[in-house]
Amino acid sequence: MRKIAGLLLLFTSFLLTSCTKAPEKSEEYFFAMDTYMTIEAYGETAKIAVSQARARVEALEKLWSATDENSEIFAINHGKNPELSEETLDLLSFTLEMSEKTGGAFDATIYPVLTAWGFTTEQKRVPEEAELAELLEKVGYEKVSADGKKISLEQGMMLDFGGAAKGWASDECAEIMRESGVKSALINLGGNVYAVGKRPDGNLWRIGVADPLSENSENAGIVEVSDRAVVTSGSYQRYFTQDGKTYGHIIDPKTGYPADNDLLSVTIVAEEGKLCDVLSTALFVMGREQAERFWRENGGFEMILIDKSGGIFVTEGIAGDFSSDRTVNTIK
Ligand code: AMP
Ligand code: MG
Repeated sequence: MRKIAGLLLLFTSFLLTSCTKAPEKSEEYFFAMDTYMTIEAYGETAKIAVSQARARVEALEKLWSATDENSEIFAINHGKNPELSEETLDLLSFTLEMSEKTGGAFDATIYPVLTAWGFTTEQKRVPEEAELAELLEKVGYEKVSADGKKISLEQGMMLDFGGAAKGWASDECAEIMRESGVKSALINLGGNVYAVGKRPDGNLWRIGVADPLSENSENAGIVEVSDRAVVTSGSYQRYFTQDGKTYGHIIDPKTGYPADNDLLSVTIVAEEGKLCDVLSTALFVMGREQAERFWRENGGFEMILIDKSGGIFVTEGIAGDFSSDRTVNTIK
């Protein structure tokens, strides 16, 4: 009897494994928006969804690139006043609203200052204080006004969606996945991650949070998520060093200098990639104390902060989903 039961078990497990074959994986790896991107998805409709998502990212890049002479942003930044697409108007109004909310820590008009530091041309330099003071007069989200489908900028003002576009694009990719019936996908647009559903094996997606102090790109920890965006900003991602001092690519709009406070990185976890992208940049500008206050006062997102001494601070909403070998402090 026991023998028959054993055989039966063997037979059913054989049946199970042969019926539940792993879902098909489709993946594309490409360069867009000045960074490397990977989109992987599982299931029968994955292949089409992945290529649609990639095409969408490339289309958004064509609209928003600050360096492509045919983009809407290039036209605006070079004294033209074209009728803007729905997408550009939507992103602009979202960033303006977030600039207001973050007290100007996020400001999509920072481009003239960013250019002076050479971050847009790869000819990095430390500008004179007087030069920065003059350029800061051309910065200020509150000076941007929309008039129907057009916007007017003062002479010398420029827009740059570098701190928000990838997050926005990741939301659109996630939407394409859902509409295509994809239940499991991982979208990584240059560190702007969107995890759709769960992993094909039914477990949560595990997203590594980089250790900014590690020379071998090790993780400071892992956050487990489902249907969430995870976005990290930090000056360690793009910077240059001059006379022993390091200058990062995230600018404090109040001073015109690269944000330099107690933080090395800010990771935001929320349902929307666009929110994560803008907030990771803005809270990096704020520093730890102000970032924590912003979280307490506004909510709607969770975050992982890493400070200059390697300290890890995680908001209580995701503390249980974050694992690390190191001490983790909970933000309440
Ligand atoms: P992220 O990698 O998302 O933190 O965005 C950094 C990019 O956003 C920079 O490379 C700039 O293009 C732009 N940027 C820098 N500082 C700011 C700021 N304070 N507000 C908005 N965008 C910024
Ligand atoms: Mg950002």
